[in-house]
Amino acid sequence: MHVGHFAVGLLAKRVEPKLSLGTLVLAAMLSDFLWAIFLFAGIEHVRLKPGRGAANYADAYDIAFSHSLLMDVVWGALFAAAYFLRRRYPRGALVLFIAVVSHWLLDVVAHRPDMSLAPGTDRFFGLGLWTSIPATLIVEGGFWLLAIILYARATRPKNRWGVYAFWSVVALLTLVWYNNITGPPPPSVRVAGISSLIYFSLVVAWAYWMNRLRPAQA
Ligand SMILES: [Zn+2]
Repeated sequence: MHVGHFAVGLLAKRVEPKLSLGTLVLAAMLSDFLWAIFLFAGIEHVRLKPGRGAANYADAYDIAFSHSLLMDVVWGALFAAAYFLRRRYPRGALVLFIAVVSHWLLDVVAHRPDMSLAPGTDRFFGLGLWTSIPATLIVEGGFWLLAIILYARATRPKNRWGVYAFWSVVALLTLVWYNNITGPPPPSVRVAGISSLIYFSLVVAWAYWMNRLRPAQA
């Protein structure tokens, strides 16, 4: 999934307003961050095929270190523990753990069967939502829209930046997502890894910025 993970961050901010939106979005996307790093480092592998939409052009045959259930639980526990050691806030740590592990469930819904329970296992799960663009627009798009509305209602912009920088980036993310599910493949796996890493970093930076510009409504 793509904007579905951002939606988890926006919704979790409502559940636990003490956590920064940036930390929540980072948690919900942690598997994809690790995937981009592992891809670049040659630890994980994806094959590109001709076709339109990531569900058709990306053959993610070796992504178990970033995208298996067991490893997501491990990454979630490490992420939550790092937060807990700094802030000593158990509820925040639990919400972050759930946000990290939610990535696996959402990707099982979106991916073709390429999601495993643990590295080295050979049963793969995936409902393949992304193979249908109309279904993706309805299910993932609907989830994204709902999360945006609930987040916008739960927060109040401090100034104009909190309005324009929020809504313009939301529109931009929606376009990038649409291109991801319908567009052509990237020129190479290396380009996919590097551009994903830059994109994810910018999204997390924006989420930290929005957290300051749009405080929770009292
Ligand atoms: Zn993913």
